[in-house]
Amino acid sequence: MLIVMKFGGTSVGSADRISQAARLAVDAAAKGHRVVVVTSAMSKVTDSLVDAAQTASRGKWDPALRAQLFERHRQAADAITAGNSDDREQVLAQIETQLDRFEKLCFGLSMVHELTPRLLDAISGTGEMLAAPLVAAAIRSAGRASAPVLATDVIVTTEQFGGAEPIPEATEAKAAATLRPMIERGEIPVVTGFIGATADGVLTTLGRGGSDYSASIIGAALSADEVWIWTDVNGVMTANPGEVPDARSLAEISYSEASELAYYGAKVLHYKTIVPAFRKKIPVRILNSFNPEHPGTRVSVEGDTSTLGVKAVTSIRKVSLIAISGTGMQGIPGIVAKAFDVVAEQQANVLMISQASSENNICFVISSSEAPRVVRALKSALEVELLRGHIEEIADQPVAVVAAVGDRMRGTPGIAATVFGALGSSGINVIAISQGSSERNISLVVAEGDATEAVRGLHRAFALDREAAATSR
Ligand code: ASP
Ligand code: MG
Repeated sequence: MLIVMKFGGTSVGSADRISQAARLAVDAAAKGHRVVVVTSAMSKVTDSLVDAAQTASRGKWDPALRAQLFERHRQAADAITAGNSDDREQVLAQIETQLDRFEKLCFGLSMVHELTPRLLDAISGTGEMLAAPLVAAAIRSAGRASAPVLATDVIVTTEQFGGAEPIPEATEAKAAATLRPMIERGEIPVVTGFIGATADGVLTTLGRGGSDYSASIIGAALSADEVWIWTDVNGVMTANPGEVPDARSLAEISYSEASELAYYGAKVLHYKTIVPAFRKKIPVRILNSFNPEHPGTRVSVEGDTSTLGVKAVTSIRKVSLIAISGTGMQGIPGIVAKAFDVVAEQQANVLMISQASSENNICFVISSSEAPRVVRALKSALEVELLRGHIEEIADQPVAVVAAVGDRMRGTPGIAATVFGALGSSGINVIAISQGSSERNISLVVAEGDATEAVRGLHRAFALDREAAATSR
């Protein structure tokens, strides 16, 4: 098999973790698989790079930061290359080159005081370029040929800095040219996650947490047999274990369940990860590098067809419900269109929409950080309707969205009744509800303070702490 393996920040957070990641890659190669590794930055590094960029744009550049980053990576390099001074020199030189570039960018920024998305990408993408030489060195010291590869030579993207999208055909060609010869020579390429480049070679990033997405993009470009996402939890769970102590891992889920769950706040996967793998029907495994024996979760076309109903419950916090209401809204065409034009203009991402059929009220959920701006814009765009009294109020309130997700909710009667029964008996008030016509999720808006109880109540009501009776394997 050709396997693309991605290691997240905590999976490469120290010399020990990097050596463990290398062992996992080498073990797979020893079983006869061909392996491509995709690495994140060491944990917390991207945060400090973003911080540095923001501070520099206010005119301050603190050279101590370069020294700190160097120290962290040097210590890892020393441990990983112990006893091999040539390798150590080579890795340190690569790290210095990246840090020189980083320092120059920050210094320039501190002079011009203007942080463009393009410049932020150039700076925030440094972490992966620092980590890849370390991971490759660890693989070499575990006995396999390996070299770091910059994803700017692999993934071709659009020019949406801060959230670029891959261009599949161009990426396929580049990935083949860069990675195939290495794979054929029996090497394990270590590709930087998170970043890519435009057709002109300008560095872009795929958005925070985007290394998962990188792995799936590269997997699709190489028509890999599987994509493995090594993270720090036992795969996708029935709920956030921090919130629901008896949450359990799901052995099999479908692509659509994985993307619903990622979208509705399950932090395990970047929400775009599934798309490229899905296009080529490549199974994605989510595995725990801290507990590699655990089978984790396998994401595939069919998922687990034996479990009916709800598979998992998630929640999204720090969101606001915007409600536009008024008895005069009935039958007045265009209010909804106008409202969503405003939202689009403000580039706010709508997580959920609900409109009562009486048409007296439309409401939608967006990130709380965007709410004040969107409400202001709505009030100004709908001024006439407000003056005429067609709309009485445009209001926002902080809320949480709780979602129950599962492919086989479709056509399973009684799910909504169980949902409302569970919330009713926990005394939780449901502010709004929406069910996509795919019937793969029911999302509920509840007060922020009720979210945890709502998630626990639903988890209990659908007996998600227990392996479903139907899943006899
Ligand atoms: N290092 C990047 C981030 O922290 C990408 C990733 O870890 O997936 O957002
Ligand atoms: Mg990550």
